[in-house]
Amino acid sequence: MPRYFIWTIGCQMNKAESQRIAGYLDSVGYQVATAPWEAELVVLNTCVVRQNAEDKVLGTLGLLKGLKEEHPNLSILVTGCFVNSDIEGLKRRFPHVDFFFKPGAYSELTGWIQKQGIYSAVSAQDLALRWKTSSPCAFVPIIQGCDKFCSYCIVPYRRGREVSRPLEEIVCEVKGLVKQGVKEVTLLGQNVSSYGNDLPEHPDLADLLNELNGIDNLARIRFLTNHPRDMNQKLIQAMASLDKVCEHLDLAVQSGDNDILKAMRRGYTVEQFRGLIRAIRWHVPQICLSTDIIVGFPGEAEEQFEHTFSLLEEMRFDVVHVAAYSPRSGTIAWREYEDNVPPEAKKERLSRVEQLQANIATEINSAYQDETVEVLVEGQKKGNWYGRTRGDKIVFCENDADYSGQLVKIRIKKTSPWSLQGKVEYNS
Ligand code: SF4
Repeated sequence: MPRYFIWTIGCQMNKAESQRIAGYLDSVGYQVATAPWEAELVVLNTCVVRQNAEDKVLGTLGLLKGLKEEHPNLSILVTGCFVNSDIEGLKRRFPHVDFFFKPGAYSELTGWIQKQGIYSAVSAQDLALRWKTSSPCAFVPIIQGCDKFCSYCIVPYRRGREVSRPLEEIVCEVKGLVKQGVKEVTLLGQNVSSYGNDLPEHPDLADLLNELNGIDNLARIRFLTNHPRDMNQKLIQAMASLDKVCEHLDLAVQSGDNDILKAMRRGYTVEQFRGLIRAIRWHVPQICLSTDIIVGFPGEAEEQFEHTFSLLEEMRFDVVHVAAYSPRSGTIAWREYEDNVPPEAKKERLSRVEQLQANIATEINSAYQDETVEVLVEGQKKGNWYGRTRGDKIVFCENDADYSGQLVKIRIKKTSPWSLQGKVEYNS
């Protein structure tokens, strides 16, 4: 039996696509290998959102070149954001790669496999719809690409314009996952809140959530990531009224200063963002919010950073993902702005945001002490069961019984800024 190894670099979107590719390779008779040097087929699923991710991809391609020299029968396939529109150029630069296919272009993969003389009854559509999982939680891509062109971001150039999957196809996939025992789905995309704009009937994310909410035995629905400009009243109402939609939202603000937001080309002001958060909290009082921040964007003076700091103090997010700006070649910011915030200033701002957020998260999470929360148990880590609340809080518990895949009620005995710990009270 030929063996395969999938090397995944990057976000949940890539991990979800790798799961589908693995399911397909299993179905045509490949067996999974534990290391690339044990495999006859290596699929490299790439990310180039940040320069260091692209460097990692280039390093891995170098490693695979050496491996191919030792094992000339090894086939190397590359997919993900690294595969841009210039496939001929990629072939010239990396002649040791046998095949490049764009993210989500499963028909290209199935075509290549068939050219190797391997018959498959699995079509490209089947590959997207009928992949196998043993986890109670599944990630389901619903839209590829992005039309926003934020000035610092390479995604629209690499993943291309937004392409949504038909609503019926997603519903069909989720029904199939639920039959396998999946209880929670996370809908994925670079910007899920613009789902459906490109489809003929223009269904939107709220319509999709409505359809999925009606699936029997599905317990929870999440979606990420969202762009504040596309969050509308209909979507907020859907979150408030649909019982399976979790009280959790990831909404990147990126900066608390209007000049910086304008330079980032985010398309909203701090005042609009503040109004949006107020509306969400009013309609969904239990909501847990996470956000993303970039510190040290070109032109960010101390005063402008203080605006971001104050916004974080005011908003009190549950989670803040913070990164220091680094120029990404090919973007508008790389072309037009000087990277003029000194590295020490970026480091200091990053650390101030992290410290502030640790304090806020400590306070928010301490309110869970002695409370009972519903947790979907995902598995075991270092002898402890773990899972997440509807608000996406990670909870660990020490019980002996195996609760994996079950919704359980856990009484919280200990809290920290990053997780909760408790004991199972009973199964739901
Ligand atoms: S919305 Fe997100 S993916 Fe799209 S350009 Fe902006 S940062 Fe990049």
